[in-house]
Amino acid sequence: MTSLIGTTGLTGTTDTVMTDKIVAFADLDDTLFQTLRKLPGVAPDTLQAATVNTAGAAHSYSTPAQVTLMELLRGGKVTVIPVTGRDEAAMRRVTLPFTSWRVVNHGLTILTPAGNLDEVWAAQVFSQLESLQGQLHALSQQIRPEASRLGCRLSIHQAAGLPFMAVIKHPQADAQALAHLQGHWESGLDDAHPLQVIANANNVSLLPRTLGKAAAVRYLRQRHFAGAALTLGLGDSVSDLPFMQECDFAVSPTAGQLMRALQKARLMQS
Ligand SMILES: [Mg+2]
Repeated sequence: MTSLIGTTGLTGTTDTVMTDKIVAFADLDDTLFQTLRKLPGVAPDTLQAATVNTAGAAHSYSTPAQVTLMELLRGGKVTVIPVTGRDEAAMRRVTLPFTSWRVVNHGLTILTPAGNLDEVWAAQVFSQLESLQGQLHALSQQIRPEASRLGCRLSIHQAAGLPFMAVIKHPQADAQALAHLQGHWESGLDDAHPLQVIANANNVSLLPRTLGKAAAVRYLRQRHFAGAALTLGLGDSVSDLPFMQECDFAVSPTAGQLMRALQKARLMQS
């Protein structure tokens, strides 16, 4: 007797072989660890260092619950794949033991388990980024004077050899200045615009709308984990939601931005 799965397949594909593999796609900062600034009143001796700064000193920490969550995943033979806005250098400063694929630069770069660039993904990213260069440059230049008037710094980040993101930071993470600049950028973009604005606790970023964490997770799932029995998406931010929705289940820290936003949402009849 022939198994249905793997021949005609219950999913309609012909080459999907179901495995018992469990994969967790996990955002890092504020999901698996955070800086001490985000942990007021927590006794430092209960924490475990999870990243170092450029000088090699401990910088971000995991709480006992975050440590236990990682141990639970590892104990359950779950493949944990970081999905982070960190660039490759910042990813190297994460000291948690990740051994599989890594998604960095908000999804624009995928690293293989050996640490090499996934060339197929990089080629796809390059071809889509090319067409966004004019708009990315124009919107960055447009906001530059207002950003510097408010004491903020604007930097342009590259992936696949091309600029893909403009980031505004304030040295003291002044929420008012960042919110003002966020509004300024957003007023020029509608939902159909190929670029979108993402706000985090200490920065505002302008980056491609469709070429992000969700696209990278979809690519990895289809190409390398098509037969996974279960996929989990872990994230704290509203901007993590699209990639978490690429997974079977979502896990979110209750004190995170995503859960706060959910709590404020007015539920409508559906
Ligand atoms: Mg996060």
